[in-house]
Parts: sequence; structure tokens; C-alpha cells
Amino acid sequence: MARPGLLRNRTALVKASPAAADEACRLHISGIVQGVGFRPFLYRLANAHALRGWVLNGERGVEVHVEGVAGRLASFVAAIPVQAPAAARIAAIEQEPAAVAGFGDFVIRESTKRSRPTVRVSPDLPVCSDCLREMADPHDRRFAYPYINCTNCGPRYSIVLALPYDRPLTTMRSWPMCDFCADEYHDPGNRRFHAQPVACPQCGPAYVLETQAQRVSGSEAISRAAQLLTDGTILAIKGLGGYHLSCDARRPGTIGNLRARKYRKERPFALMVRNLEVAREVADLSPQHEEMLQSVMRPIVLAPARIELEGVAPQNRELGIMLPYTPLHHLLFAAGAPEALVMTSANRSSEPIAYLDAEALERLDGIADAFLIGEREIARRIDDSVTGVGPYGSTVLRHARGCAPQAIARVPAGRPMLCLGADLKNAITLVVDGQAFASQHIGDLEHYGAFTAFKETVADLCEMYEVRVAELLVVHDAHPEYASTQYARTLEGEHRAVQHHRAHVASVLTEREAFDTEVTGVAFDGTGYGDDGTIWGGEVFTGSIRDGFVRAIWLREAKLPGGDAAARHPVQAAAGFLSALDDLPDLIGAPFDFPERYGKAARIARSGVRTFITTSVGRLFDTVAALAGFTREITFEAQAAMWLEHLAWSARNEDAYPFPLIGNRLDYRPLLATIVADRLRDRAPAEIARAFHHAVADAILTAAKALGAQKTVASGGVFQNSLLVALLAERLGDGLWLNQRVPANDGGISLGQAGLAAAYSATT
Ligand code: ZN
Ligand code: ZN
Ligand code: FE
Repeated sequence: MARPGLLRNRTALVKASPAAADEACRLHISGIVQGVGFRPFLYRLANAHALRGWVLNGERGVEVHVEGVAGRLASFVAAIPVQAPAAARIAAIEQEPAAVAGFGDFVIRESTKRSRPTVRVSPDLPVCSDCLREMADPHDRRFAYPYINCTNCGPRYSIVLALPYDRPLTTMRSWPMCDFCADEYHDPGNRRFHAQPVACPQCGPAYVLETQAQRVSGSEAISRAAQLLTDGTILAIKGLGGYHLSCDARRPGTIGNLRARKYRKERPFALMVRNLEVAREVADLSPQHEEMLQSVMRPIVLAPARIELEGVAPQNRELGIMLPYTPLHHLLFAAGAPEALVMTSANRSSEPIAYLDAEALERLDGIADAFLIGEREIARRIDDSVTGVGPYGSTVLRHARGCAPQAIARVPAGRPMLCLGADLKNAITLVVDGQAFASQHIGDLEHYGAFTAFKETVADLCEMYEVRVAELLVVHDAHPEYASTQYARTLEGEHRAVQHHRAHVASVLTEREAFDTEVTGVAFDGTGYGDDGTIWGGEVFTGSIRDGFVRAIWLREAKLPGGDAAARHPVQAAAGFLSALDDLPDLIGAPFDFPERYGKAARIARSGVRTFITTSVGRLFDTVAALAGFTREITFEAQAAMWLEHLAWSARNEDAYPFPLIGNRLDYRPLLATIVADRLRDRAPAEIARAFHHAVADAILTAAKALGAQKTVASGGVFQNSLLVALLAERLGDGLWLNQRVPANDGGISLGQAGLAAAYSATT
């Protein structure tokens, strides 16, 4: 009797009848077509069309020779994009006629050895429906097996140690395949043909549960873990790109413990829910939200909350939700884990996600009560990706698992470039052969762990695409004190600095490969190093990537007393901005109730000592948040601005505060004076917050009209504000371009650096 593994092949292998071939062609298929089951797919497709020839992984993608009787070639070629594996992304199919060679069958040939691998290792994939079905079948060899996978699903980037992508160079190297798995691996008709991480319970890794009291493995580990979650335990769970900390999302007491142990007071936690139905219960999902939740990226999707889950996302109208994506997640829910789980990157506050077992056990000691540890190592850390949905479609807020590494755009670079990004929310971009590959989110480089991860990622990408650092153009932020800039200085080769806000604007245009488009470029964020050494963050440029960007309009300069601390204390930023106003009332008293820190900062601003000049719109948001009632210290980046947005969503007024363009400055003084007066008149803070959002949207419209370009581009952390984006959509419609594939925050900077440096190098 045939073994179940072979019976599972659903595609019938219709062997070609040996009629003489009368036409032949060569195909060259580029894009993400390697490591995603593309060759076995073509093998089955060719056989289904009774074609003969061969397929191989070539230098620039997949090469195919097919021949057969007239007419079948065309339908074969037409079927490729329609039926390609879910994880494949075809950039182009080039076809040229070839001579009939008289092949007897269709074969998968050995890959050609190349000088520089352009094998695009695909991002990690969620478990597919075929594997899920097998995993739920008690008669299947891989019943309830947490490492089930096939060529259509499972880990990729997170297990690759080196290229070419082959099992001995993955973290599966420690588990030799059993005969059963090996047969599937070598059978071109099988779904697991050349699936590098293929494994089964007989030959592969397992999960182990460690608590104070015991250590169990296999299915028992998973069912015990599900029970512990139900009982209110905090678990560290090893996933695809690192450890998560997890607990029942409906137990405020447990969530409170998690926050206390992790030193994470208020920053929202992401949720993993059992399935789409549960997602619909906790959040208001549009069709785009649902599509994004189920996409192969399986990101955390931000959506308006429907119910309050106490402690999960305090004072935030949105929840971050994701669906299960590894077999283990599905097994935990099947074993009875609570249907909504907090699922947050396992680390202490702001450290990068833990991904090595020893590191996790040590760092999470005292945070997690128990550890669910998978035996397969993780080759590199990758957080969950985060996406939002707005009037311009979906947008990536954190580019990580399921997206990285990925070619984001073609850039006109004549040489390889390493673009190091900015220090906050760092991500890097490597340009090889004119393709810009964006790394996963790395983190804030002021933390030692993140800086280490940054250096590892540079080495990693350079190795993966076989570029030597000495041949690279190294591109970095213009900030002389950024850790990324100082790191750049340690590298040999040619260097180029790119101004932060120009890189923000260029990131949007580089995504679209719009290098010549003349735009009005709006860059609003918290902090970036300006041409004049002051702290920029409210800049409007005119120009194009090709010709460069000229700063045309900016926020009126404000004082910023005390430097960096001002970013953590909204009242401190307020002291600086408000020092430009005449007739200011006493803000220490009601209704403002500013703390004493404000008085001190106001005195510093007056004296000019340790006072900086800024055009930061991020600090303007902080100032308005302080005036509307957020007078305490923030506990995570942009918290006050998010609070203000949350507040503004709850109001309905359509009026805007005055925010005029005087000369080439957007003058915030009338804006702030009116807000102070409104607050004294007892206007509701929510209405104030909303009228302020309208004012910012109006100011952008005013600037766009004044500069007159057809397209306005907006980037920078401020544009993660979904209310502001909605108000801009009303004003600018199709005339506005925002980031889609890289974040509007500093996570997108390295792609903008790539676009600008490429255009520069192309003209010199
Ligand atoms: Zn699968
Ligand atoms: Zn096996
Ligand atoms: Fe920025």
C-alpha cells in the first residue's frame, strides 16, 4: 500500500504522452521565486500540460525550458502567475523562443553556481491550510506536530544561517531527516519537495515546557502550556523570530503583573486571537483589515477596539491584533488556550526581542512563570510586523516578520550601497544590483542590545547578498552623534550623509520608484538633525529625488529647554513653545495644572541656557497635549501625541484653529494662544484636540497650495496619526502620497537614504 505521504499529493501527475514536440521556449522568471516551492510547482504544471524540458534556479531567478505540441506552451505560461505558490512574488516572466531539443520528460535540474547569489530568501511564511489539515488529522504522521511545514509555508529567513538556502545551512541541520521525510523531500511531485525545514515527530525537533516544578515535552508540553495560560500564568513562548510573553487578555490582574515585571506601564500590548471570529468580537474590522490579518505577512493589524480589554491598550482607541501563524499557535488554541492572548515581544522594556534560549531564560527570569521552548534554533531575531489601514489602503508601521528581507524597490544605483537609517526605530537597507532590500525592524540604537543587533544585521545582509563592505557606498544620517553615523565612520569605503527629513520624503518616492517626480515634500516628526544643526521636524521641501529637495516652508522656530528630556515631558516642550506668546496666564493653576517642572523649564527657556532651537511638529503635538491635560511624563515614544489623537477622535467638531503661513514659516502662536483661551473658557479638551488636528491638516494644505506641485508627499512619525491622515485625505485626495511598504516613522529612513544616494551617485 502506498504511504499516506504519497496519497496526499493532490495534483495528479499526468505524464506526457510521447508525442513529438513541435515548439519550445525559454522562460526567465524573476522576483521572489526561490525557496517558495516554485520549481516543484512548475514541475507539476509542466506535467499537467504534457510538456517536457527542465527548470532550475538560475542567477537571476528561475530558468525554464519547455517544449511540447503546439498550443500547450501558451496555456502553461498563462497559468504560471495565476497558480503560483502563495508566497511567490513574480516580478517578470520573460519569454523567448527556443529550439526543440527532444527531451523525454520534465526534470528539475541542479542550480547553476553563480558569482553573487541573488537568491531572494523569502520572508517567513504562516502555516498553510494543507499543513493545518494534516496537523488536525489523528491518522497523519504529523498529527499535532508543532514543526509541520511544506514548500508553501513555514520558516525561511528566521532559520537561514548562510546561502544557498539548503538544509545543512539552516538551523534544521541538527535533525537528519527520517526515511519518510527524505522520500517526500526528494519527490518532485510532493508538496514537501525541497522543503528545507521538513520534519516529523520521529526525526524533528519538539517543544518542551519548563516550569519551576517540572519539564515535559511533546504534546503534553503544549496542552500543559494551554492550561497554564487559562489559569492566569505568564508564559514565555518561543515563536518564529523570537520569544513572546503571553497571558490571557481577559485577566487584568495577570496583565498588571506582566506590566510591572516588564517595566512597561502603558504601552499597548498586541493580541493574538484564536481566529477571525474572535478578532471581529474584539475589534471593528473593515474588509481591508480582514484581508491584512489573513495575508501571508500575518502582521499585527491596528483596528478600532470594540470592547475594552482592561490593561491591554490603556487610553487607546485601537487594538493591535494578529492571527495564529505558526503550527504551535494553532495547537495552543486547539488545546484550549484562552481565545484572546496578550502576545508581546519578550524583552525588558526597549530591549530587542529575545531569540536565543539561554538569553531568554536569563532575561525573562522573573517575568515569565513558565517557558515553552522549541528545540529548533532561531537564526536571527525578527519581531512581528505591524500594519495599519487608512484611506490610502494598508500601511506598514513596523517592517519585520513576513516582510523582511524583501526587495522594496528598484533604485538607479550603479554600485552596492549600505544605508544605515536613523537611530530610533532603526532598520537598514542594502542595495544590490539596483534592488533595495529593507531589513527587519531593529530598534533604538541607544540600547546596547539593539546596537548589537544592528551590527549583526549589517553583517548578515552583506553576507547574504555577498557584498564586501569595502565595495559599498555607506550612507548614513547627517546627525554627527547618531550611533549609526559613528558606526559608519568605522567602515571603509566611500561615505555619504543624507539629511533626515529629506530621507523621510524620499522614502515615499523611492517606494514608488518616482525619482523624477517634482513634489511638495512634508516631513513632520519628533527630531532630526537639520542643515543648520538645529532640531528639525516641521519641514516642507520642494523638488525631486533627482534634483534634490530645497527647504521651502517650516514650522516657526521654537525654544526647546533642556534638550532630550523635553521629548519625555510634554510640559517641558510646552514651556519652550509657549515662551513665544505674550500674556500667558499662570499654567501652574487650574484648569492647566502644570507641574513644577513647567515653571523650571520656562525659566530655562527665558535664560537661554541649555535651550535649543527646534521646528519639531512632534513637540508641537506634545505642547497641545499638555494644554489639553497630558501633563505627566510619557512612558513610551509619542505617547502624548497618541493620547491627543485618541481624545480628538471622540469629538465631532469641524472647526480649525488658526495656523497661518507667515512668509515661509507656519506660525503656531495664534494656534496656541487660541487653545489657551479656549481652555480657560472651559472648552472640552476633546474638541480642542480635534480643532488642532484640523489646523495641522489645513497648514499642510496651505503649504501645498503655496508651493504648487501636483503631488504632495508626507512622511515622518507624525503621519502615523490616523486622524490626521483622514483629514488630509479630505483635503488632498489623490494629490497625496504616503508611505505604504516602509514605515512613515524612522524605520523608513534607510530606504529614503537609498533613493537619494542612488540619484546622487547616478549624476556624478
Ligand atoms: Zn504547508
Ligand atoms: Zn521525519
Ligand atoms: Fe524622523
